[in-house]
Amino acid sequence: MKVIVGVDIGGTEIKVGKFNDGQLIEKKSIKTDTTDYGSRIINDIFRVVDELLGQDTLEGIGIGVPGPVVKGIVLGAQNLGWEEIDLTSKVKKHYPHAHVAIVNDANAATFGEVAYGSAKGYHHVVMITLGTGVGGGIVIHDQLLEGFSGSAGEVGHIRVQETNPRRCSCGLFGCLEQYASATGVVKTAYELRKGKNTRLNKANLTCKEVFDFAKEGDEVSIQVVESMTDYLASGCATIADVVNPEVIILGGGVSKAGAYLCEKVANKFKKLCFYSVRNTKFMLATLGNDAGIYGAMHAASKQ
Ligand SMILES: [Zn+2]
Repeated sequence: MKVIVGVDIGGTEIKVGKFNDGQLIEKKSIKTDTTDYGSRIINDIFRVVDELLGQDTLEGIGIGVPGPVVKGIVLGAQNLGWEEIDLTSKVKKHYPHAHVAIVNDANAATFGEVAYGSAKGYHHVVMITLGTGVGGGIVIHDQLLEGFSGSAGEVGHIRVQETNPRRCSCGLFGCLEQYASATGVVKTAYELRKGKNTRLNKANLTCKEVFDFAKEGDEVSIQVVESMTDYLASGCATIADVVNPEVIILGGGVSKAGAYLCEKVANKFKKLCFYSVRNTKFMLATLGNDAGIYGAMHAASKQ
């Protein structure tokens, strides 16, 4: 059987999926070994891929990497301990007969949703991943937009707060990530719950609880969600004004808040964006944690 393999390298886990004709047949995951500057990661991947392959023929292999990538060269991946590395050449050396695609992980997830998930059939798509941070990817005319230094789609660092901005891990102030990520939502909850009678007054508060309490009518929780969606809609308006996508997909753990979140953002967006991009659709991602392996596989299939 001819197969294409999709790999998603995360900071803690590496996911590998074997596909035939776009169908996920088998997947495996291993821990990411970041010791010694991540020097064993590539061989670990080869080992798992070889195990998965068995008697199958490898037509292509796509790999999503948590760092900027330009034309198959990884410019660096801090979480893994990597500096610049020509991953395409290394993979081609090991699998000389396979098509090889190396892409940024957030871009891979976007590509996955475009080819096999909620944005199937759309050609101009932006995906925003709302997790512990905020990431994103841009597909225009069915092509991933990498940008000059592999940093297109870094939507988490759009400035959305000017007056009293939070400091971001990137060193800037007022980044979208500080308000629309799971961490950001909890931070806002801690600020707004002070001195109030609210269900948010509990230890180890999670972003999911904030949304659940809001859906159940807790006033202060609703204020937190309103604040988060104001910032997110503002960021989306900026993105849409620049790239004019057909669809903006919301993915990542925070997007499990579902239609409640998606509809709020879509409604607020209409009041903040330029009139000619008002019809931008909003959707929830559907592939979950598998978006990366689907997208990496799709990138390899297009080589
Ligand atoms: Zn930032």
